[in-house]
Amino acid sequence: MSPAAAAVSGELPALVARRDTAGARVSVVAPFYNESEGVWLYYEALRAMAAGLPNIEFEFVCVDDGSRDDTLVHLVAASRMDARFVVIELSRNFGKEAALTAGIDAASGDAIVPIDADLQDPPTLIPKLIEEWRKGAEVVLARRIDRSSDSFLKRKTAEAFYRVHNKLSSVEIPENVGDFRLMDRAAVDALKRLPERQRFMKGLFAWVGFKTVTVDYARQPRVAGKTKFSGWKLWNFALEGITSFSTAPLKIWTYVGGIGALLTFSYAAFIVIRTLIYGIDVPGYASVLVAILFFGSLQLISVGLLGEYIGRMYIESKQRPTYLVRRCYRQGHGSERVSEMTG
Ligand code: UDP
Ligand code: MG
Repeated sequence: MSPAAAAVSGELPALVARRDTAGARVSVVAPFYNESEGVWLYYEALRAMAAGLPNIEFEFVCVDDGSRDDTLVHLVAASRMDARFVVIELSRNFGKEAALTAGIDAASGDAIVPIDADLQDPPTLIPKLIEEWRKGAEVVLARRIDRSSDSFLKRKTAEAFYRVHNKLSSVEIPENVGDFRLMDRAAVDALKRLPERQRFMKGLFAWVGFKTVTVDYARQPRVAGKTKFSGWKLWNFALEGITSFSTAPLKIWTYVGGIGALLTFSYAAFIVIRTLIYGIDVPGYASVLVAILFFGSLQLISVGLLGEYIGRMYIESKQRPTYLVRRCYRQGHGSERVSEMTG
């Protein structure tokens, strides 16, 4: 080994140095949409978890994503009882990705943990995530090894989504990893530099990279309330994921068209030669109709796909904010501070 190489390798341990987490600030960010039955369960679960880590200064950012029930009332009550709970009220329902973005923008921790409000991501795993962070990781992924609490159809479609997405896109989304993870401030700041308005968080998290380790857990059933994601919403979410991170669906049409043209040309040559040899052959209604319908549908599919991308470009080009905050509730010097912000 050359002296220079030795010097460099000697520095490596310093690059993955353990972090001193004593007194570190960790923000746990959860989006809430019609979760009123779950608010206090969430409150208790997080307080219990935090009690086990007295050295960490916690902040619990709860984003009310325009709930139609009394989620906000409960959240504000929670923030009055425990100053670590900060509530961000969005002006309407913006969707989970936007709500999460709002929470991450508002969080001030040295590390941020996005988590689902329904406790499907167990808060009891947070100490383990923090432990890996302390060991030097910048991103700690929580991977579901047991998804038996999700329906068979959901598991299978999720599997198919990851497979298709990772084939088409150069940014690989780790399988069975949701939004639940810990991110160091460095990774969070990188994430905040990504300018897109439509935020497919899983993909954006993966795009920023950083030194990543994985911790496994079993996915829990929802503690209260119902899922907010119907099959149609999930399908659109999957389309959003693929179109945000890959242009492959746009490009395949050149090849599909090329192969189609080649086949058509061979078939045309075959017909011409056959006609020259055997004379004119009029019947052929069925094959003509099939060919017209087939290529017609193929063209509609490709136009539709163009539409997917153009629609997204159109929305993106309007540069509207990802979310609007109506009010921010946090205890400050005994009184509630109200602030406005947009992102
Ligand atoms: N959520 C949200 N806005 C929405 C839909 C969902 O903030 O428009 C939140 C919801 O309150 C929950 C999280 O996103 O904290 C995950 O939603 P859900 O549990 O319904 O999804 P699932 O776990 O069934 O995929
Ligand atoms: Mg859930």
